[in-house]
Amino acid sequence: MQSPAHKPRFAMDPFGSVHDLTFADLERMLEADGVRPIHAGSVWRVLHRGLATDLGPEHDFLPPVRRWLDSQLSQGMRLDCPTVSEALVSTDGATRKLLLRLEDGQEVETVVMGYPGRYTACVSTQAGCAMGCVFCATGQMGFVRNLRPGEIVAQVLAAQRMLRDSGDAGLRNLVLMGMGEPLANYDAVIQALRIVSDSRGANISPSRISISTVGVVPGILRLAEENQPYPLAVSLHATNDEERTALVPVNQRWPLASLLDACRIYSAKTSRKIFFGWTLMEKINDTPEHARQLVALLKGLDAHVNLIHLNPTDQFRAGASEASAAALFKSILQEAGFACTTRQRRGIDVAAGCGQLRSRAGAVGKRVE
Ligand code: SF4
Repeated sequence: MQSPAHKPRFAMDPFGSVHDLTFADLERMLEADGVRPIHAGSVWRVLHRGLATDLGPEHDFLPPVRRWLDSQLSQGMRLDCPTVSEALVSTDGATRKLLLRLEDGQEVETVVMGYPGRYTACVSTQAGCAMGCVFCATGQMGFVRNLRPGEIVAQVLAAQRMLRDSGDAGLRNLVLMGMGEPLANYDAVIQALRIVSDSRGANISPSRISISTVGVVPGILRLAEENQPYPLAVSLHATNDEERTALVPVNQRWPLASLLDACRIYSAKTSRKIFFGWTLMEKINDTPEHARQLVALLKGLDAHVNLIHLNPTDQFRAGASEASAAALFKSILQEAGFACTTRQRRGIDVAAGCGQLRSRAGAVGKRVE
């Protein structure tokens, strides 16, 4: 951590990382120091295309850029390059999980899932999580802190580096479904997504980046107001407040009625389909009656339902649904006219469920009630 006297003029972060910056931020910084903003391109390419982990003399910059970088680095400008504490590959080779250690020692998880012809990364937005969902290993750990934009960007770059080093193609899709609630860290998340969707860098199309929320209503309304281009996924898991609060305690703060109102406002303002996540738990929310209640709840919304098989955790003893129950649930939704997909169960052997690898490595924090 650097002293305030050395605080660089970064847009988001009191401690300063070049990975916190959008391309436009970098241009502004150069210009403010009398360096032509066009030079932002060479720095950006080295960081976001070359996946550099430093900006030392081995990188061949033009003299004005070299001088500017050396000056900034000597004043404490940092890069976000977390170390890989653990890297696991599933037995089928299709799911890889990284446990990344941040500068202050916090560890977050990043998962890369391979599908035919494409890779998807799932990144974390917070260290721990305050939402307390009972079936989630991260929720069981509690909240530690928000990640900065650069720490979110760095996960994408770490995933890219891993794919490059194994000779695989780059990332095509990004989901914010790792540790943490993205809409509880709104500004950092949106800044990070601007950076990774920049066509001069990681170039992940905004339409292929999905923000997943457990139902933070103010965040959904803000996405709508700002007409952010990223698809929205809302985790529901239950259709009445009593059952949902038992699974997702934050439902007490934003009950289903207000959540569904926010979704309708989002749909009306953005004309975008909303993806609703439903983690199937045996006999808890996987009966035909639950499916019919979900149909009623989503009536009138442009909705796509993603059914997710539960990744069991030590603290939550519910089982994953039988295949026949999952199939019946899905058919009821489809017959009612909703698009519905079942997410493939991936990476159980690498603890790919959110927070499971970090949890295995040791608890991190406390629940914020
Ligand atoms: S499911 Fe998501 S929102 Fe809920 S506790 Fe886990 S990380 Fe947090």
